[in-house]
Amino acid sequence: MRDDLNTMGKQGQVILRARDKVLQILQTENACTDWYRTRNSDPAAVFRTLTYSVDRKGESYIRKGPAASGFEMIYNPYVATVEQDGGPDSTVIINANGAFFFPAASVVEDRFQGGPLTIHGTRWIQVGPYVGGSFRAQVVVLLHEFGHVIDLLPEDREDRDGKSRQNTLDVLRACRAEVDSKEGPHSFLASR
Ligand SMILES: [Zn+2]
Repeated sequence: MRDDLNTMGKQGQVILRARDKVLQILQTENACTDWYRTRNSDPAAVFRTLTYSVDRKGESYIRKGPAASGFEMIYNPYVATVEQDGGPDSTVIINANGAFFFPAASVVEDRFQGGPLTIHGTRWIQVGPYVGGSFRAQVVVLLHEFGHVIDLLPEDREDRDGKSRQNTLDVLRACRAEVDSKEGPHSFLASR
């Protein structure tokens, strides 16, 4: 798996860094690990078996619903996805154009009858409270997807009702302290 990520270039390195942080969290006694344990007795062992793939053609636009509907609906590009309850050896697919890698995206208006896409500026895209493309955002994304792998989080593939956002909030409730902790994968080496 590590070899896979190493051959994926810069994006692979970014994923690997976030993966190491999640492994470090799950190999430690804390509220986050306890939460995953409510579904699987050894979450770190399952997480270690996951593989990753980057969806280079993933949606890159924020879709804005027609203003005529009276209120504005905003749909961010998906960040990542994985098979629900896929268990060990599942592949986490990460959108190359979403908030795992980028802090902002262009806004386009959803058109029901085709027509040219018009860009309506750019907006920030976040993962919970974290700026897209930040290390903490990446860690939360991997924790979130892992929640689907072991069926701890309910399916949220169609995010038009905010389920995905709710799932991220559930991850943060259990794991925020660990995500925010400064300790990185190599901090004990760096401090020597
Ligand atoms: Zn989800």
